[in-house]
Amino acid sequence: MATLDTKLVNVLGDRTAKVLYKNFGYMTIADLLRHYPRRYMVRGELTDIQTLQEGDEVTILAQIHSAVNRPLHGRKGSIFEVVVTDGSAKLSLTFFNQAWREKELRVGRQGLFAGKVGSFNGKRQLAHPEYELIPDGNDVDSAVNKFAGKYLPVYSATSKLPSWKIAQCLELVIDALDEVEDYLPEEIKSKHGYPALHEALVQVHNPADLDHADRARERLTFDEAFLLQLLLARRRIEIQQLDAVARPIRRGGLLENFDSELPFELTAGQKKVSSEIENDLSAPHPMHRLLQGEVGSGKTIVALRAMLAVVDSGGQAALLAPTEVLASQHVRTFEKLLGPLAQGGTLDAAENSTRITLITGSQNAASRRESLALAGSGDAGIIIGTHALLNESVQFQDLGLIVIDEQHRFGVEQRDLLKTKASIPPHVLVMTATPIPRTVAMTIFGDLDISTLRELPLGRQPITTHVIPALEKPHHVERAWERIREEVAQGRQAYVVAPRIVAGTDDDADMDFLFGEETPTLTSVEELGPQLHSGPLSGLRVAPMHGKLSNEVKDQTMRAFAQGEIDVLISTTVIEVGVDVPNATVMVIMDADRFGVSQLHQLRGRVGRGTSPGLCLLVTNAVTESPARIRLDAVAVSQDGFELSRIDLEQRREGDVLGSSQSGARSHLKLLKVLRDEPLIELARLDALSIVEKDFSLKEYPRLADELEILEQDSSSQFIDKG
Ligand code: ADP
Ligand code: MG
Repeated sequence: MATLDTKLVNVLGDRTAKVLYKNFGYMTIADLLRHYPRRYMVRGELTDIQTLQEGDEVTILAQIHSAVNRPLHGRKGSIFEVVVTDGSAKLSLTFFNQAWREKELRVGRQGLFAGKVGSFNGKRQLAHPEYELIPDGNDVDSAVNKFAGKYLPVYSATSKLPSWKIAQCLELVIDALDEVEDYLPEEIKSKHGYPALHEALVQVHNPADLDHADRARERLTFDEAFLLQLLLARRRIEIQQLDAVARPIRRGGLLENFDSELPFELTAGQKKVSSEIENDLSAPHPMHRLLQGEVGSGKTIVALRAMLAVVDSGGQAALLAPTEVLASQHVRTFEKLLGPLAQGGTLDAAENSTRITLITGSQNAASRRESLALAGSGDAGIIIGTHALLNESVQFQDLGLIVIDEQHRFGVEQRDLLKTKASIPPHVLVMTATPIPRTVAMTIFGDLDISTLRELPLGRQPITTHVIPALEKPHHVERAWERIREEVAQGRQAYVVAPRIVAGTDDDADMDFLFGEETPTLTSVEELGPQLHSGPLSGLRVAPMHGKLSNEVKDQTMRAFAQGEIDVLISTTVIEVGVDVPNATVMVIMDADRFGVSQLHQLRGRVGRGTSPGLCLLVTNAVTESPARIRLDAVAVSQDGFELSRIDLEQRREGDVLGSSQSGARSHLKLLKVLRDEPLIELARLDALSIVEKDFSLKEYPRLADELEILEQDSSSQFIDKG
């Protein structure tokens, strides 16, 4: 008899095991059992052929309506055409030179047919489909008949391995399988009324009825969420048990000074999050917190206040930014906000002031040496940098806090690398640019405490967004340039965003997220700049901005723009995150359909950051009612980043929802859909917490401990931050 760990080869033989390995990478029975059906077909209920779309890989249940073999025109060979039907619509199946199939593909028989829907002479067809005929009535009851059940599981298949072959393999495996021991704690199982594990595995593949299938599936989906939440909950507790230096707020320090000079009042949300962070920092265990917030909600100040608290306590704080543009901007902002407080070591210094230093890949040797010395000696309390911060040569005197800005640009490894630069585990604050739905956060960042900033600072004007269909209303594009001129005439500034740097190339250096196919006609910065400069924006101070410019030029350009010396920045998405020039009020985004929903929301967040209303114009060639237009309309009507990120994520495949650094999650999460299964994830999280709170090492639950270890050992579970 076989167990979950038994190799497939022992049950299915060499050849089949090889095919399963080649096509799906499966080696053990457990692997194959987790190849769950995508849906079930009911025996006798034929697939609705009308709904099949060209290009789909399909498995259909249909009845043979006609079968004709005829010679090819003017060529050797014959074509055997079988027409199948669901009772109304028809689909043709074609086979070349396979007249012998006439014997089995007889009119009236039902079967499963699998292939890619193509078209020929305007008719949909499957060329050379794989098929499996349903046995004729008299052998239905035979015990070994794989179609004995009423429900036929449909698996995601490959051309080498059609759905029914997978079903056959599963049947053999399930027949050979010993009773599988359950790892789910009895109290949880009975609370939710879930079937036992063995029962669930059998019923999901070969259900007695759809109700059983649903319950099996729910239990197995719950398992995925539960195990993951358990893992995360345990990591969180492990981190909480590490020792760190407590950094309680000090009276009369930099932070207090800074607060008293702050030109505005913190929002209620900023105050709340700040006090959460201050609580964390005053504990002798590392803070491990995610700050996610709406675009423009003022995350930077919150981070700076945390950094100052740590400096006040004698430590240093490092801020890791995704781009040089952003890193230098942070230095400028901090220096401006801190004034003499950041002039340590100079004549202008305030009492107990500190210094800020910048570490980037592009700085020259002398300035780098100086920065490294400042960081190493502890003279710089605040160190801001790009990836260069991770370099071996960068040392700190006493690194007490790490802030990761715009976390989606960084992998977990980079965060961990920075942590190794502290002698005692540092406090960590991670900030995301893009707000994400709660369950996504709980799944990706479940080992972090989460703070959320929804509210924007007072006095912020709304951003009005319009979609401009360039093909239907070209004069509206003209009007967009006029709007820029009007704003500039009032002393304001503008951004024009284009998807490409150079025309007609594959150069997407600055692009994160492309929809659809390559189109050579996309607007590029290098074309658009001169066009606008000599045309609709003539006389304005226009400058290009993109990732291919030298860091020096980028920095100069951003400085000049921030100081109002440039009116219009023509840019790629390098300005997408973080860039903060409150005087900019208009943004025109070319080929807007090329960007993701959240990305557009981020981009748009560059305007309306001051006290004047913002305007964002989304120029597109996409036609009314197309999916692209619907997406753009959604961005135009909503300013809620959380809502938009949900729309964005709903359009991605599950693996992409969790992001590339979470790729390992994909192999474990077969059934769980983070957005769809929100309530289940909430339940699983509560259950997981209640278990680890009373029994952290799972002494009472040895099977569960084993299962968790499998998940942990699975190198793929590296996707989760290890604290
Ligand atoms: P994000 O959360 O997108 O990173 P920032 O931290 O860049 O946003 O803040 C956006 C702008 O709002 C900055 O110019 C910042 O100085 C300003 N700001 C932050 N907090 C407040 C506040 N409480 N009142 C007024 N302006 C604020
Ligand atoms: Mg920011």
